[in-house]
Amino acid sequence: MLTGRPIEQRGPADRCGAHKKETDMALERTFSIIKPDATRRNLTGKINAKFEDAGLRIVAQKRIHMTKEQAGVFYAVHAERPFYGELCDFMSSAPVVVQVLEGENAIAKNREIMGATNPADAAPGTIRAEFAESVGENSVHGSDAPETAAVEIAYFFSGLELVG
Ligand code: UDP
Ligand code: MG
Repeated sequence: MLTGRPIEQRGPADRCGAHKKETDMALERTFSIIKPDATRRNLTGKINAKFEDAGLRIVAQKRIHMTKEQAGVFYAVHAERPFYGELCDFMSSAPVVVQVLEGENAIAKNREIMGATNPADAAPGTIRAEFAESVGENSVHGSDAPETAAVEIAYFFSGLELVG
């Protein structure tokens, strides 16, 4: 399970301004992974275009290759599920791109852009409908709630790496 103190969603620079406009208040950040099936097929740019076209801003991004143990900690919430071992093998099988996306209602918006977990159920035009290979190898991860977004961002990024 990911533990530790969730960082605030905004970087230090944002906290300096007591004069932030009210229109900025619904800005949210979410955590995203472009998974190994997608990096293998050179789909990073096409997937990023989906985020940017929908109005999400990539405020942090890096390419990493996780160990099975690191993937296991990230997905510990699924440790009891039958697909957990296979999921950790897959997520550590090749590089991934981890990223932080920012925008209005970014968490829900990103889930919409991603589409359903199983590509067979994903709406047309979504990332998973267009690119996913199977329910397991489904091209992207996206946080499902503000609490998980904060913990997942903090697992991969320091505050100084978030540049909004
Ligand atoms: N997964 C799988 N088999 C399943 C359900 C999920 O291999 O029957 C994998 C899949 O890669 C999925 C991840 O486990 O993206 C996490 O599952 P979750 O239910 O959280 O789906 P998500 O939030 O990614 O849509
Ligand atoms: Mg999930």
